[in-house]
Amino acid sequence: MKLILATSNKGKVREIGSIFLGTSIEFTGLDTLTNVPEIIEDGITFKDNAYIKAKTIYDFSGADVMSEDSGLCVDYLNGAPGVFSARFAGPAKTDSDNIEKVLTLMKDVPEDKRTAQFRSAFCLIIDGIENFFEGYVKGRIITAPRGSGGFGYDPIFVPDGYSQTFAEIGDDIKNSISHRAMAFEKLKVFLLNKYI
Ligand code: IMP
Repeated sequence: MKLILATSNKGKVREIGSIFLGTSIEFTGLDTLTNVPEIIEDGITFKDNAYIKAKTIYDFSGADVMSEDSGLCVDYLNGAPGVFSARFAGPAKTDSDNIEKVLTLMKDVPEDKRTAQFRSAFCLIIDGIENFFEGYVKGRIITAPRGSGGFGYDPIFVPDGYSQTFAEIGDDIKNSISHRAMAFEKLKVFLLNKYI
């Protein structure tokens, strides 16, 4: 089965690619399409934004599409950065700027109040029918970045039950416990039961 993956986030393409390895699902990125319309992610939940991305590309291409929206939700920050995760420090800012902003907002916050979760929502549109799959992983925000793997907020997130950050833990472990892996597992079961 061929699906268009409606994202241009390279970290995600790489990670979803490795989760797909060994299945009969092939996916292509948005770079295989030309004149793709701008996708305006103005939803208030990850599910809304996943739908906006998938629906925009489905309407444009008519092909089966999969999209994913995700982010970090910090309890002390009332769920921020949330849907603004990618642009928390501003539209042209980097992952390290975003990390810096979270750490500054959490300066002096005690250990037991540093709880957070990564959340992920997938939207799959096949033959025009929409399906949604969600997942999360709980953990805590440390006080200074550690590790060079992964992407985004990985260097400051330690998942529950581990002492290393997502940027230190290695792809194999991250891809078996992450928010995306949890959501994708549900999507995979759905596809296997229905289409493969
Ligand atoms: P999206 O591409 O609009 O879904 O933005 C997702 C943003 O959330 C990314 O740019 C990261 O900042 C953050 N994010 C999502 N998943 C992860 C992850 O697995 N590790 C670290 N940051 C993540």
